Amino acid sequence: MANIVDTGDAFKYLLFDARRATFKTWIFDKKAGANCSSDNLAKAGFIKTDKDATCCVFCDKELVWDDPADDPLKEHEDHSAGCPFLPIMRIPEQEWKADDEALAEVLATLAAMAHIKTLRTYQGECDIAYKKAESKLIPYLPSESK
Ligand SMILES: [Zn+2]
Repeated sequence: MANIVDTGDAFKYLLFDARRATFKTWIFDKKAGANCSSDNLAKAGFIKTDKDATCCVFCDKELVWDDPADDPLKEHEDHSAGCPFLPIMRIPEQEWKADDEALAEVLATLAAMAHIKTLRTYQGECDIAYKKAESKLIPYLPSESK
């Protein structure tokens, strides 16, 4: 399964509609009164990753759901108290304000995640370049005698 934090894809799931769209079908959506609905899961920051599994796009917490009565918000808080999305999760998107400190923190986290992805890509390329250069340089390097 894709690791959202590693791929830096969280920005595209910042808003509810994008997260909700990952739930084409959901195991509890036809159960009357189910609290663990695709709407509530998407509101709580999750995208669907498997038939009965979700992942938070902000903290990468994966959860498997087996009880339609589960409260996605509460489960998210219980399993990932440090999630950067929690402070704004209960505020409707229409009420988010650009100067809101909690929103600024989420955006900063998402930006950092995107930068981490870029840095990992460069690090991988540097490692490959270093290994190629190292094999050519070995004959010229001082031997490590002990
Ligand atoms: Zn989270």
